[in-house]
Amino acid sequence: MQIALSDPEYGYYQTRDPLGVHGDFITSPEISQVFGEIIGLWCVVTWQNAGRPRNIILVELGPGRGTLMADILATIKKVSQEFINALKIHLVETSPVLKQQQNAILKDYEITWHNDLETIPWEPALIIANEFFDALPTEQYVMTKSGWHQRHITVDIEHNNLSFINVPFTKQKFPKFPNQISNAKVGSIFERNVISEGIMKSIAERIRDNGIASLIIDYGHTQTQLGETLQAVKSHKYYNPLTDIGEIDLTSHVDFKALAATSESIGLRVHGPTTQRDFLKTLGIEQRTKVLAAKANGGQIPLLLEGSRRLIAKDGMGALFKVMAITPKKSETPAGFELN
Ligand code: SAH
Repeated sequence: MQIALSDPEYGYYQTRDPLGVHGDFITSPEISQVFGEIIGLWCVVTWQNAGRPRNIILVELGPGRGTLMADILATIKKVSQEFINALKIHLVETSPVLKQQQNAILKDYEITWHNDLETIPWEPALIIANEFFDALPTEQYVMTKSGWHQRHITVDIEHNNLSFINVPFTKQKFPKFPNQISNAKVGSIFERNVISEGIMKSIAERIRDNGIASLIIDYGHTQTQLGETLQAVKSHKYYNPLTDIGEIDLTSHVDFKALAATSESIGLRVHGPTTQRDFLKTLGIEQRTKVLAAKANGGQIPLLLEGSRRLIAKDGMGALFKVMAITPKKSETPAGFELN
């Protein structure tokens, strides 16, 4: 998954912009500007509640086309010039193609890019990630008659393709195997994302030591569970993940429980996860959509209404996507999580 997505020469993200109607998949900020506007307002309120620090960095992990950041900044600009003046923008992005797009859409702002969190200044930060964690390489374990095996990928020479292979491993090599999956049936698959947990740890340490908050939005489950979620998509259709390596998008569902546990172990307060539907509704997506629709011209209105409907759909993104925030232990509950 790491190679398929990130190989410098052939990696999926290195060689293309995968987003949008004509691309492989579409994300919330690409569906409607209302998404970024609400996250922008969330940033303003969180900054105000933290005592309006004069020096703050706004970090986005995996900013795609830069649409979310552009909508966030446009909203902050409207609401608080003081906040706009106080913040510096840092983007974590590995794709040269997407960096170029971010550069174009954010041309009015001063931006610093990073390949990972390590080089970001150690300062109070608001750290946003939408559909970033799902792109990080997952590990899979399979329960067999002889216990847990790790799932690897091998070359099937006879058929000239790739296939999965189960390789034995000892629990000693994997000390933190969660208890709740220990009585899994033969054939069960368990996914663990060690890289995600490492990035979460590094986010949590920053928030603990320097303050403010992080907001993570992604598709995934609120409890650690069994089941395969590795998924390959091209042109909005599902594919076999072992075909067309580097040409198809690979993701797995985010285990929010594991991310929450990592943050708590660093001493942070975790809020949610709540559903994207509840989060956006609590923060006024319906009111904002009405205001925009009243100002829009005829052709735009159905798009606006349909966009918002999609973002909060009970049988779609609204339920599948979860939103989780982390703050220092003594912070108050951030906007959108009051009901949790
Ligand atoms: N947040 C955007 C894009 C989501 S797609 C949106 O909502 O539209 C995933 C993003 O994460 C892309 O920008 C991709 O290039 C970036 N990405 C994937 N793996 C990464 C990694 N290991 N380090 C940094 N960025 C990564």
